[in-house]
Amino acid sequence: MMDLRDRLKLLSLEACVEVADPTEAPQLLTQKGVAASQRLIGNLVKSIYVAKAPSFSGTSEVPLLKTLLTNACRKDCRYCSTSCLVDRRTISVTPYELAMAFMEMYRRGLVRGLFLSSGVHGSADATMEMLIDAAVILRRKLGYDGYLHLKVMPGASEDAVRQAAKLADRLSCNLEAPNESRLRAIAPSKDFDGEIWKTLTIIGKCAKEGLLKSGYTTQLVVGAAGESDREILVTVWLLYRQHGLHRAYYSGFIPIAGTPMENHPPTSPQRQMRLYQADWLLRFYGFKLDELPFDESGNLPLNVDPKMAWAMAHTDTFPIEVNEAPRELLLRVPGIGINAAERIIKARRERKLTSVEQIKALGVAVERCAPFILLDGKSPAKRKLLRLPIEPYGSHRAN
Ligand code: SF4
Repeated sequence: MMDLRDRLKLLSLEACVEVADPTEAPQLLTQKGVAASQRLIGNLVKSIYVAKAPSFSGTSEVPLLKTLLTNACRKDCRYCSTSCLVDRRTISVTPYELAMAFMEMYRRGLVRGLFLSSGVHGSADATMEMLIDAAVILRRKLGYDGYLHLKVMPGASEDAVRQAAKLADRLSCNLEAPNESRLRAIAPSKDFDGEIWKTLTIIGKCAKEGLLKSGYTTQLVVGAAGESDREILVTVWLLYRQHGLHRAYYSGFIPIAGTPMENHPPTSPQRQMRLYQADWLLRFYGFKLDELPFDESGNLPLNVDPKMAWAMAHTDTFPIEVNEAPRELLLRVPGIGINAAERIIKARRERKLTSVEQIKALGVAVERCAPFILLDGKSPAKRKLLRLPIEPYGSHRAN
């Protein structure tokens, strides 16, 4: 039997194959990143892979140990190297082994949190039992009070989800695809409504009851099932609005050798980025789903970000006077972010904003916003604004 260190190394690498956030990718996938992580960990557990993830406080990054309890999985997700369709050696660690190894790293200051997932080994609840066992050992026997993210198996019972919610800071359950028919194409044995959606709504209830300090998240594999951006965002927006989702991760499909989808083309990082941008517009910029600039096939433009695309398709809204525009209109201007809009509103109470230098100092991206604004009645733009021929997507409304 492989020693614990080697098993953990392999399980951590498999857990990290799914890169959700473009900002994570370089740290997870480059040799330099791996070497740096390994150097950090030292002799005892030097092979364990450490992923850096955005901090739950939103201000910095924290090193997390991201790993699986087992890579044995009875599910047949066609894109996944851990699937039962892939012929490979399966390995596991016990909840106790995992808890002890993690605490060793934690005590030495090498990691500041744990993201624990697993292949579906046996039933969803049997797998949950192992994840919960690991969490109980950490919390109650080893006194660990740091960050803990547990992955919930699709189809887990409410009782299992609630137990996990009482132990973890954050839970997650992956959507993988935006609806039943798309999911069937890439993961035939998964049940969208009966397993995944049901589980997400139970987690949502726990989050609303305040059981989860850091909320819950989900993830989709973008571009594996031929789905459109609109299909993805319709589903995710429903989770945000009605089920208290904290954050969705859009993981661009990357073909993995040995899986049934090894010849499927990878998803461009650009598409992944556009989905994150649209997601931010929905959550923080007051955009409605039916305002996003989807094309006829339901996809966001790749050559221009969605906020700029919207602005260029709505030239009749612009230019706006920076000294007078309400916050919601400032936020529609490309180059004016949330912080810059707040600074503008504060600054213009004290003095009139008349120059590009003034707004640049407030954090505005002047080159982007110049065609869309007036400063004390004058346009800072050198060129005229051209209307972009993008058909706004207007027929669909979020529920
Ligand atoms: S459930 Fe699907 S995606 Fe998750 S580990 Fe198993 S095969 Fe991979």
